[in-house]
Amino acid sequence: GHPATKYKRVLLKISGEALMGDQGFGLHPPTVERIAKEVKSVHDLGVEICMVIGGGNIFRGLQGSAQGMERTTADYMGMLATVMNALGMQAALEALGIHTRVISAITMNEVAEPYIRRRAVRHLEKKRICIFAAGTGNPYFTTDTAATLRANEMACEAIFMGKNGVDGVYDKDPKTNPDAKRYDHVSYDEVLRKNLKVMDASAIALARDNKLPLIVFPLDAPGGFRSILAGEGTYTLVN
Ligand code: UDP
Repeated sequence: GHPATKYKRVLLKISGEALMGDQGFGLHPPTVERIAKEVKSVHDLGVEICMVIGGGNIFRGLQGSAQGMERTTADYMGMLATVMNALGMQAALEALGIHTRVISAITMNEVAEPYIRRRAVRHLEKKRICIFAAGTGNPYFTTDTAATLRANEMACEAIFMGKNGVDGVYDKDPKTNPDAKRYDHVSYDEVLRKNLKVMDASAIALARDNKLPLIVFPLDAPGGFRSILAGEGTYTLVN
């Protein structure tokens, strides 16, 4: 049998950049496949999985607006970028034999299901992975707020923030500060007060107000995601 896991339902949030590998842009199929295998290893434990993927590997609203584009238009482009990433991840998961649904906050029925909360819950109960795309469907938000919103709506027990090149939350950037201190545990308020890099502030506040724990862990460490579900591994707990 499988090791007992205390989590029955989780949401995995990854940035768009996690999918681009060393290319510096877009989707790198071997990287997408590697992440899909990490997700499968947790799905194999019987854990119900939601996913939210960013869009920063393709387009970021703030970048567009800095170049003179209207912010709302640029944000819609960013949301559409997350749909492309969601479809890429769906393809990789389905290639591993896992049933998935891409559920978009912006209706595009030919490409993805519309978001209907009860229907999404049903998919999870049937062990389908729900990939929530197009963020919250609203400009001025981020995929971090989308992750927190969907995790609350789906009654997930925690958000797993899969990071690249870092194994948790530090008091300062560990890449430029060799004396940076890693937290095993840190409160939402300390994250906000010290502006620690976990999620944007609105997403942290939404998690705090709904007592939704965040687990920040290295997604590039093979087996890292599964080991936490199995009660081990390296991570920072924010609660
Ligand atoms: N976005 C948005 N509303 C949302 C989610 C995302 O407007 O609810 C836009 C926003 O422009 C953002 C882009 O989509 O810059 C990509 O998402 P994000 O920056 O969160 O991606 P990540 O940094 O995680 O790759």
